[in-house]
Amino acid sequence: MTQLGGFDPTGTKWQREAMVADQLAARGLTDQSVLAAMNVIPREHFIPAQLREHAYLDGALPIGDGQTISQPYTVAFMCEALHTTPTDRILEIGTGSGYGAAVLSQLAKEVHTIERIPELADAAAEKLRQLGINNVFVHIGDGTLGLPEAGPFDGIIVTAGGEQLPRCYVQQLKDGGRIVIPLGETMRQQSMCRFTRQRDNLYREELGSFAFVPLIGAEGWHVDEAMHEAERESES
Ligand code: SAM
Repeated sequence: MTQLGGFDPTGTKWQREAMVADQLAARGLTDQSVLAAMNVIPREHFIPAQLREHAYLDGALPIGDGQTISQPYTVAFMCEALHTTPTDRILEIGTGSGYGAAVLSQLAKEVHTIERIPELADAAAEKLRQLGINNVFVHIGDGTLGLPEAGPFDGIIVTAGGEQLPRCYVQQLKDGGRIVIPLGETMRQQSMCRFTRQRDNLYREELGSFAFVPLIGAEGWHVDEAMHEAERESES
C-alpha cells in the first residue's frame, strides 16, 4: 500500500470504520483489500470544504462543474468487480474528485485516470499529491478514446454512464483483463457491466442497477444531449 505522506486521517478513522462496516460489508462487499483501501483513504480530503461534514454519508456529493463524487458503496462495488491485483496497471475514466483513483492507488501498481474537465483534473492531481500518492497519473482528455499510449491495461474502470462500450477499450485491454462500466439506453439509469477479455472473446456480465452522470465524448453521449437531459431534469 502507498503511504499517505504528510496527511493525518486519524481524526476521521472511526467514521471510515463505520462506513466500511455499515455501508460496505453489511451490504455484501467482501474483498478485504478493497475494504482496507476504503478504510485508509480520507474521503473528506476530496470533498468541497462546505460539505466535509457529510463526507461519510451514504451518498454521492457535488464536487462542482455539475459533477459528483460517487457514493462510497459504488466506489467499493466497482473496485471489487474489477478484481484488481497489486501488479495491475489500471485505467480509470472520470477522475472527478480523485477519490476513486486514490482508492485504486492502494489496490494496483499504477493507475492512469482521465478527466474531461481540466479544472477537476487539476484539483484532483493536487489532492493526490497532497496525500503523497505517487502511483496515480492524471490526464486531461476524452476518456471514451482510452489512453493508447499508456496501455495495454489489466483493468479499465469507467465512473460515468455510457450507452455502449467504447470500441477502443478492448484493444487497450490485456488478455484476461476486465472492464467495469455502467451502461444504459438513457442517461438516468445504467446497469453495471463487467467485460472480461479471454483471447479474442469478450464476456459480458450484468452486476446491478446504478445511476451515474453521463459519459460524454466521441464514443459516449454528446455534449448537447447531456445538456438537454440536464435541462429536463431541472424541470422535472
Ligand atoms: N471517480 C470520481 C470520484 O471519485 O470523484 C467520480 C467521478 S464522477 C461520477 C464522473 C466523472 O466523469 C465526472 O468528473 C465527469 O466530468 C467525467 N467524465 C464524463 N465523461 C468523460 C470522458 N469522456 N472522459 C473523461 N472524463 C469524463
